[in-house]
Amino acid sequence: MPLYEYRCVSCGHQFEKLMSSFSAKNPECPTCGEATEKQLSAFAAKVEGACCGTPSDSGGSCCSGGSCGCS
Ligand SMILES: [Zn+2]
Repeated sequence: MPLYEYRCVSCGHQFEKLMSSFSAKNPECPTCGEATEKQLSAFAAKVEGACCGTPSDSGGSCCSGGSCGCS
């Protein structure tokens, strides 16, 4: 089951939640109950940053493939 990260559009509170599918309705903010928007997962953000910042660690496969958009 995928883990998604959400951020509250009202108070900015960020949290992660397991969702059964990508199209599932966004959960309400656990802090204030307002609507949330889906974020890129923390894992995906880390992979993207590692690729462009330290190419020696990634072996260059990410940048050479163009999947991260930094080439
Ligand atoms: Zn909130």
